[in-house]
Formats: sequence, structure tokens, C-alpha cells
Amino acid sequence: MDDSLHRLSLENANDATTARSVPVTLSVRAHQEGSDAGGFVSRGIDDPAMPTEGPLVDRYSRVHDDLRISVTDRCNLRCVYCMPLEGMTFMARSELLTFEEIERVAGVAHRLGVTSIRLTGGEPLVRKGLTDLVARLSALGFEDLALTTNAMQLAALAAPLVSAGLKRVNISCDSLRADRYESIRRRGDLATVLEAMDVAERVGLSPIKVNVVLIRGSNDDEILDFAAFARETGRIVRFIEFMPLDAQGEWDRDQLVPGREVFEKIDAQWPLEPVANLQGPAPAEQFRFVDGVGRIGLISSVSQPFCGTCNRLRLTADGAIRNCLFSDDETTIRDIIRAGGTDSDIELQFRRAVWAKFPGHAINEPQFLRPARSMSMIGG
Ligand code: SAM
Repeated sequence: MDDSLHRLSLENANDATTARSVPVTLSVRAHQEGSDAGGFVSRGIDDPAMPTEGPLVDRYSRVHDDLRISVTDRCNLRCVYCMPLEGMTFMARSELLTFEEIERVAGVAHRLGVTSIRLTGGEPLVRKGLTDLVARLSALGFEDLALTTNAMQLAALAAPLVSAGLKRVNISCDSLRADRYESIRRRGDLATVLEAMDVAERVGLSPIKVNVVLIRGSNDDEILDFAAFARETGRIVRFIEFMPLDAQGEWDRDQLVPGREVFEKIDAQWPLEPVANLQGPAPAEQFRFVDGVGRIGLISSVSQPFCGTCNRLRLTADGAIRNCLFSDDETTIRDIIRAGGTDSDIELQFRRAVWAKFPGHAINEPQFLRPARSMSMIGG
């Protein structure tokens, strides 16, 4: 483990519903001020100001109603900005949450006011039986149930997923040129992705969102091609800034293509206007083409962080709550469940994770240290 982390074992002393103690682990970056305001965590107790009822609110009044669930850290592709071509080690099957465990955690989250679930990974469609999980989650009654996928297996699964209750899909596609697609993603092919988009639309998953990670000198000459694609297809193309979450640790600020630059390039060709977000906080700033059909989104996590309105939590494939992509704070749920914890114990873990959240991700601060776990392990 990173030397800058210290791992604390706490007793679940404050949970009146259980007499026995259950494991609670929080890993905290020792150097990051504010991660343990008041020193409550280091003293092994909960901050008395932490709410014990109502929605999942943090110390900065942000309400958390969006949960990203990573169902696996495995992937069938090896995107250059995410995983090395060889040498990845993956979690053992026994480390992953089972579908029953995920369903239980999601049920608690639903009761705590989470309205939106996104399944991700790794590549979620490589986890066998994902349709069954979608059906279980759908039965819990979330307003939104979505999937982020590279779409390699989507054409075959789209119809069963929709029948099981899937409402929306985000498809990753970093190039519209077949040879370049293959050089960025290193496995898989563009034709399969484009076919999957057509199938997804036919079974009712419109409008599709298309995720494009832009990397300077690699695919940034396709900004206008992707804008034209958005105009022609009605698919919402979202340009994502390259984040320091690659497993290789090779991220470099010079490779970043700022959202502002993307906006200016497209706006000069086809004027854009902002779209008001009526569904609450979203990472993507959305714009529509003034002259008609089509939208784009900009996810400028590095150059223009949107932490002030962050409403997101992540559940890693091995069952830890992660309160920010860019922090190392993780609060185990799996160990609680496997030690026989109650739903109240799980709720307390959610509240602890939310209460420990930083005001912002600090990527642009000199003391920023990239998280120990990469995007595919956390669940992008
Ligand atoms: N395998 C699925 C996929 O390809 O969409 C879901 C998981 S993937 C980690 C989720 C999203 O994160 C994808 O859109 C991917 O392009 C993006 N991503 C992965 N690593 C990234 C990085 N270092 N910076 C920015 N986006 C990244």
C-alpha cells in the first residue's frame, strides 16, 4: 500500500442496532487536510454531527443520490489510457460482491434516497448473468438504471437488458476511424461498436450517450468528426478529459485536451448553446447545436472540476464505497456483510463514507497524489 496511507480498524461502536463489533476500514491519505475533520476517525468514533437519518448528505451539504456500481474489474479491451496490454492482475471471484450482495447494498442505498444506479466496471458485460442483476435492481424501483459499456457484447444483450429493466446506455468509442479505434482500444473493433449502437436504439435505449476520451496527439483531430456524428445520429457525444487514473501511471497533463478547447472548436463550426440540466447535478455540461438536431457534452473533470455539485458515490467490485474517483478513501461494505452485519450496519457505512468526503478532488493542487487504484478497479 502507498506509504501515505494509513489503514484504521474501527469498531462499529456507535451502531445501537448491534451489540457485536463488525469490521470497518477506512483508508485515509494522511497528508490530505480535511479528510478527518475534528479527528473523529482517528479517534475511532463517528462525528456527532454526522446525520443518522434522512438523505446521504455530506459536510458540505451535498446530497448523494447517484450510485455507480462496478460489477467487475475485468475488461475485454485494453485501452491505452486505462490498462496495460499485458500484466494486469484481477480480483479473485471470491473478492467480488455477489449479485445478492449488490442487490442488498443497492436496496439500502435506495432507502437512503439514491435514485440513480449506473453499472460499470471494468467491462460490466463480461460479468456473467448481468441481465439477472439488472432485473434485481430494476425491481427495487430506481428512477434511473443505466450501463456504461464498450459495447463489444451489447448487440446480443441489449434486448434482454431492456426487458430486465435497463433504461439507458453510455457507449465508449474513442475514434470513428477503424484503424485508430483499434490502436487506442487494442482489442475490439469499431464496426461492432457502431452496430451495437444501432441495436441499442432499436430496442429503445435512445438517446445513446457516446463517451470519447480525448488524448492530445492521438484523437484530438477527430473533435469535429465526432460533432458531425452527433449532429447526424442524434447520439449525445461526450468529450471526456483524460484523467490521472490509468493503471500504468503514465498520465501527463500535456496529453489533456481541455473541454474549453473542444467547445471553441465545435462552436466555431456549428454554434452551440447550453442546455439547462433539469435532472440535477451532472458531470457533463451539455450543449445543443443552435441550428437543430444534436447535442454534445463536456466532462472537464481536470480543467473545470464540478466537485461543488457532486452527488456521486461508487461501489467498487470488491464491495467498498468510494466517495470520490480521486481519493483513496474507501469504506468496506463487503466485510460488514460477510461478518453478518445488518442493513443498519450497511447504512452506517454509507453515512460514514459520505461524511468523510473531501470538498474537492484537488487534482490541480501541488500536493495531489494519484489514487492507488485505477479507473477500471474503481468503476468509471
Ligand atoms: N468498460 C466500460 C467502458 O469502456 O465504457 C465501462 C468502464 S470504463 C472505466 C468507463 C469510462 O471511463 C469509459 O468511458 C472510459 O473511456 C473512461 N475512462 C477510463 N479510463 C479513463 C481515464 N484515465 N481518463 C478518462 N476517462 C477514462
